[in-house]
Amino acid sequence: MRRMQILNNSISAHALLLLLVGVAVLSTSHAQDLMERLRERMVRTQIENRGIKAPAVLKAMRKVERHRFVPESYASRSYGDHPLPIGEGQTISQPYIVALMTEVLNLKESDKVLEIGTGSGYQAAILGELCDSIYTIEIVEVLGKRAANLLDTLGYENIEVKVGDGYKGWPEHAPFDAIIVTCSPTQIPQPLQDQLAEGGRMVIPVGKRDAQELVLLTKQEGKLQQNHIIPVRFVPMVDSTGATY
Ligand code: SAH
Repeated sequence: MRRMQILNNSISAHALLLLLVGVAVLSTSHAQDLMERLRERMVRTQIENRGIKAPAVLKAMRKVERHRFVPESYASRSYGDHPLPIGEGQTISQPYIVALMTEVLNLKESDKVLEIGTGSGYQAAILGELCDSIYTIEIVEVLGKRAANLLDTLGYENIEVKVGDGYKGWPEHAPFDAIIVTCSPTQIPQPLQDQLAEGGRMVIPVGKRDAQELVLLTKQEGKLQQNHIIPVRFVPMVDSTGATY
């Protein structure tokens, strides 16, 4: 009788465990499905509808799980049409701006790309889907380390993250075919101009805190040609003391 009871108890314990595992698996895959649907809607309504056409850029925006790059409490809002806080007073850019900056760089798979302002690592992951080698610099140590860990976990072996001052670029790996700056200086940093390859492109938000322009620079015979894209608002580029450039 007692053995029966024990057997019954252990059967029901097993059944309960199986049920719980089943529910967890179902809800995880349900959450995955939901995020995928939100991501697809983001690409169609915010990105394709606003004129982004490069197939490789659209493919990367469809693939990279943006919700993994924001604090968990913001995961459900990560596919919205806006920037979001990522801690340390910094933000992940609006999805459209990420797509636009990536598209204007006109990247080839063999390109070597430098990013200034790793932040969450999301823009770096998008670049990592498109090009062979990505170098990205973040000045806030906790953000840089967190992004490096996440990109590692997600298997991006072609992205190198460094904690440091991106104003100075990364001379050891220069010249770069493309440079993307996701924080805003008041002038285009000379070291970044110098580290751009001939024929290379740089996209950068330049200007005062409330009046920045997204600019595309192309190096032709050693000189930079400038094209204005749209007005934008990025966090300022700062030095190691926190003073703005
Ligand atoms: N590209 C990021 C968003 C960047 S927000 C993403 O996809 O999430 C801008 C980032 O630039 C912030 O994290 C900020 O700390 C960083 N930053 C500001 N000044 C910098 C500098 N001089 N060098 C490197 N990073 C800098």
